[in-house]
Amino acid sequence: MIIVMNARATQADVNHVVDRVKELGLKAHLSQGVERTIIGVIGDERLLKKEQFSLLPLVEDVIPILKPYKLASREFRRENTVVDVAGVKFGDGRLAVIAGPCSVESEEQLLTTARAVKDAGAGLLRGGAYKPRTSPYAFQGLGEEGLKLLAVARQETGMGIVTEVMESSDVDLVARYADLLQVGARNMHNTKLLRALSGVGKPVLLKRNFAATLNEFLMSAEYLLSGGNANVILCERGIRTFVEYTRNTLDLNVVPAVKQLSHLPIIVDPSHGTGRHDFVLPMSRAAVAAGADGLMIEVHPHPAEAFSDGEQSLTPDAFANLMREVREVERALHVTAGA
Ligand code: PEP
Ligand code: MN
Repeated sequence: MIIVMNARATQADVNHVVDRVKELGLKAHLSQGVERTIIGVIGDERLLKKEQFSLLPLVEDVIPILKPYKLASREFRRENTVVDVAGVKFGDGRLAVIAGPCSVESEEQLLTTARAVKDAGAGLLRGGAYKPRTSPYAFQGLGEEGLKLLAVARQETGMGIVTEVMESSDVDLVARYADLLQVGARNMHNTKLLRALSGVGKPVLLKRNFAATLNEFLMSAEYLLSGGNANVILCERGIRTFVEYTRNTLDLNVVPAVKQLSHLPIIVDPSHGTGRHDFVLPMSRAAVAAGADGLMIEVHPHPAEAFSDGEQSLTPDAFANLMREVREVERALHVTAGA
């Protein structure tokens, strides 16, 4: 439930309510608005009784959160959450772009890509060191060696790093290198990993599982938020449907749906969402037009030789062109919105 404090409430009044929440064995999550403080109360639903709080001093209202996800809901927080990753902001109204290879393959491959995507205007560099592959015989990633190469790329370019963590036992190691830790689609339901990431002290990029409902997607975000990690970025990367001409079906409906139901930023990954390099540009334009807070794009200097996902990777030139195009869409949206 949400406890809305009166605008005249002092810090002491807020603390008094928070103490009461804790005494009852519940958790309090503060949201400091411009006008007033809102206290989100989370815990065993049997203990959540309105009367316990409504009579406390300077409590204006006590409102139940009806959605199963609480801290992730717009009911809990009306303003958009802005997540800052190494100076790149997600959710502030400007498009944030993550780009880089599917897998880190070598220093040369990574640095060539990093310099190219930076020059084209990308904000963050992606690259997988731990790869969740369908086949056990496929390239599984360079592991820590890949993380070290990402650190070199950050040193060289100044770009923040986005990379996937697949197992809870790897969280500390990956967090030493990454600025944004990615939970891949296959792990969206891995609650042990989500719990480990809730205490990591770094932002998390949560990719939607290919069979996840919107409710399940937001419940996974709730694991991160309820464990104490407020810096969550959602990512739509395509779902499994009867469509076979693309790798996945990019569900752009989820962008306005998330905007209605949650305050968290959402980005779109049209590379995995389509699986086709020739569809990445049009679907990027569409994602921006639909209101996405950012994009994640796979780029490789020689897609035909990529160790993974070459068929959906853009060349550096194609990526530079994409950046120009999506900035145009962004500008058009702002002009329309302001007209
Ligand atoms: C990736 O981003 O490289 C990746 C493996 O994505 P997903 O988890 O969405 O398949
Ligand atoms: Mn990939």
